[in-house]
Amino acid sequence: MSALSGTFPAGGKRPLLGLAASEIAALLPSSPAYTARQIRAFCFAGKDIDGMTSLSKSLRAALNEEYVANPVSVMRVYPSRDGSKKYLFSLLDGNLIEGVFMPHDYGNTLCVSTQIGCRMHCAFCASGADGLVRDLHFSEILGQVVAVNAAEGGSVKERAVTNIVLMGSGEPLDNYDNVMRFLDEVSAKDGLAVSERNISLSTSGLADRMKRFADSGRKVTLSVSLHSPFDEERSKLMPVNRKYDIATIIDAAKYYFKRTGRRVIFEYTLIAGVNDTPACAEKLASLTRGFPSHVNLIRLNPTDASLRRPTEDAAKTFLTRLSALGVSATIRHSFGEDVEGACGQLRRRVIAESGKGGDGEGGGTHEERKRKGSKFTTA
Ligand code: SAH
Repeated sequence: MSALSGTFPAGGKRPLLGLAASEIAALLPSSPAYTARQIRAFCFAGKDIDGMTSLSKSLRAALNEEYVANPVSVMRVYPSRDGSKKYLFSLLDGNLIEGVFMPHDYGNTLCVSTQIGCRMHCAFCASGADGLVRDLHFSEILGQVVAVNAAEGGSVKERAVTNIVLMGSGEPLDNYDNVMRFLDEVSAKDGLAVSERNISLSTSGLADRMKRFADSGRKVTLSVSLHSPFDEERSKLMPVNRKYDIATIIDAAKYYFKRTGRRVIFEYTLIAGVNDTPACAEKLASLTRGFPSHVNLIRLNPTDASLRRPTEDAAKTFLTRLSALGVSATIRHSFGEDVEGACGQLRRRVIAESGKGGDGEGGGTHEERKRKGSKFTTA
């Protein structure tokens, strides 16, 4: 189990999901090689070990002693009026994470988490409010996709999850190795075969890692959360700006385009009176013009009273200004607002309601968490 030893954080059973066939084969020295390939495929199909019925009973019993297929369980589903669904997941150590399933005409997008909590402390974001609890293991990122694909009636061949955005809780580039392994396994032909072109990774702007990612040869769409074109304001909203300022981030974004040929998306959460002024539009245009990029405007999903969401008209005015300045931009619909759609909101609410830490200490076991799930109301 070399790939996981020392890195999988949960005590007890360890996940098989995402292990290479050769890694599984190393765990099963007395089984033929094709058994390992079968187990890998069963894991991606969302089967638990008991459901792998073509394996002998004794092999399943032996596997059950030490392993689980998927370390992620769906604890609760919160359907939104807009057709999206918020998924609350539990992990083997009792921690909770969340994801959002968004059906579109062209396919279905799943937004996954990459860390429990986050250490970026963005002013408007619920995920970072309590800091970082821990990184997710690659099997725990993969597990969200596999669990939702199975829950939505998909298979490996006919996936219900066609597109993936790494835009849930956490900073993906702060958990670099696990996120890279996740990308490799989810796009592998003998994995879920999701094309890298159908995957977006969103970062708060860790410029060094953006360049490293560009050099890695993957063809994933990179989204950069900008939120203000002025360093002073951006540093207030996103403390990480003190380490990587706007000029450094734009430079890294241009590098990403140069290396991958993929246009970069800038995420811009509109906050009333803070970053929706004409001066912001002008400065934003000067930063993003001149190389293939696109600006996604999203109206703030307020997490407390201090920052306000602009009206729809104010957002449209900002968009019109940007367009007139030659910027490719659109207003993105914010999904799941009635089900705590913004990053980290649901996990925080559920933890607050349950009166437990939710950080693995005193948070209860996996089974207890599942039972506790029953008391949370569906929106
Ligand atoms: N750490 C990464 C990915 C997680 S956040 C990043 O910063 O990009 C994903 C996106 O959701 C980011 O653009 C983030 O700024 C935005 N976001 C977080 N909280 C929000 C809120 N309350 N309202 C609107 N957008 C929010």
